Amino acid sequence: MSTETQPERVRAIRKSDGTFRNPWPAFVERGLLHVMKWKWSSSAPKFPKPHEVHELFAPKGLLTADDHVFLRRHHGICPRKSSSAHRTPQESSWASEWFHNAALCEDRKGQISVTWIGHSTFLVQCGGINMLTDPVFSTHAAPMKLPGTPKRMVNVPVTVEDLPRIDVVTISHNHYDHLDTQSVQELVREHNPIFVVPLNMKRWFQGTIQLLDESRVVELDWWEEATLQLCPTTGRLIVVEAPSEMSTELVHNLPRQPTPEAPSLVRVSAVPAQHWSMRTGFDRYHELWCGFVARFSLLTSQNDATSIVTRSVFHAGDTGYTAAYKDVGKVYQSTGSCTQPLADVNPSATPFGVDIGLIPIGAYEPRWMMSPQHVDPIEALQIHDDIGAKFSIGMHWGTFILTDEPVDEPPKLLAKALDDANKTVSSGRGRERRPGEFVAWRHGELRNFTSEMLDTLNRETK
Ligand SMILES: [Zn+2]
Ligand SMILES: [Zn+2]
Repeated sequence: MSTETQPERVRAIRKSDGTFRNPWPAFVERGLLHVMKWKWSSSAPKFPKPHEVHELFAPKGLLTADDHVFLRRHHGICPRKSSSAHRTPQESSWASEWFHNAALCEDRKGQISVTWIGHSTFLVQCGGINMLTDPVFSTHAAPMKLPGTPKRMVNVPVTVEDLPRIDVVTISHNHYDHLDTQSVQELVREHNPIFVVPLNMKRWFQGTIQLLDESRVVELDWWEEATLQLCPTTGRLIVVEAPSEMSTELVHNLPRQPTPEAPSLVRVSAVPAQHWSMRTGFDRYHELWCGFVARFSLLTSQNDATSIVTRSVFHAGDTGYTAAYKDVGKVYQSTGSCTQPLADVNPSATPFGVDIGLIPIGAYEPRWMMSPQHVDPIEALQIHDDIGAKFSIGMHWGTFILTDEPVDEPPKLLAKALDDANKTVSSGRGRERRPGEFVAWRHGELRNFTSEMLDTLNRETK
């Protein structure tokens, strides 16, 4: 038996006025004076050369008309003339290819499909359930599209309208690069998903979105969990278990594990993040901030034997580094195979581990200003190790310019961090990282993590 200490489930400090604070001394608040000092001393972030831009940002090597205008106006860069100012046939075919790929995971063989839409927005598909994280599809990450506010560098690779049916949306906190009013309005209109959000965000949905159906928003404190299951009659996701504040008539009487009639479910848990919240300038700390672990459970049949497969995805939200990730790793540690015979399944003790980590690697300079709230790529790798993710994808970079580092630097520093970590293996410390274990993707990139990939790693490393 393991002699490791039990994980500590640290909570955010709750003040008497209902606001929240980080429980770690490493979080040092940054106020207006700090922002003024930063802006006074900062230089414009360096932008890569045209051919590097082409290589880095354009999905499949294509730049769109908006990219040309942006590069010319803001950086004096003239991309190659051969790129048309209009959407080319290649671009159109790329868009349709994306949609085709996204539709591939309708089978229930235990694979996870992940698409990076940009910044912290991912489409995660597993067992017929489609989940979206921190949905931002607008051109600006700001309350208004004004000059000087963060503007999208790369076009969004898919619209809300063109997404496959979205069942559940997680929102980590209320900063404008994570919570976008227009995107949420479109999602409600087109998909009517369930939103899983941190404490106190429901009133934003009631006020700004005027969402009257309360059952579509579930608030979670750190370590709390909601269970969402595909309804056998409607085929839509419904809340079957949620923290006690939720009205009981909203909780449907389904068995809370996959059945032939309701073959997929997802348990979404909020986990700690070292960050903060503010939307208007007068509401700092009024809403909580968090990351999420989503555990998908689905029925599979092979040779007449029915099993339950569990797959999980971690989304960090925005965060500075905290040792609480070691506790997240312990709580969600895999203790064996993720595929179990149906008869053996104890829903409250299903082992799973973290399959895919979605971890920020950008918005880290200058460190004196950013380190309490945003990790750098070296710390991102530490989170990947702490949570024991089999694969991770770098996010929160290359989409909006928020901070001072060169915009193409995060993936380079991430690759270097992995290289450096591998060098210590030769001196007998740590384990060697596999190629592709933690990488940054191009916008619109999709990858299917198959059962073969994930289960092999399960046997090897756990
Ligand atoms: Zn933030
Ligand atoms: Zn952010």
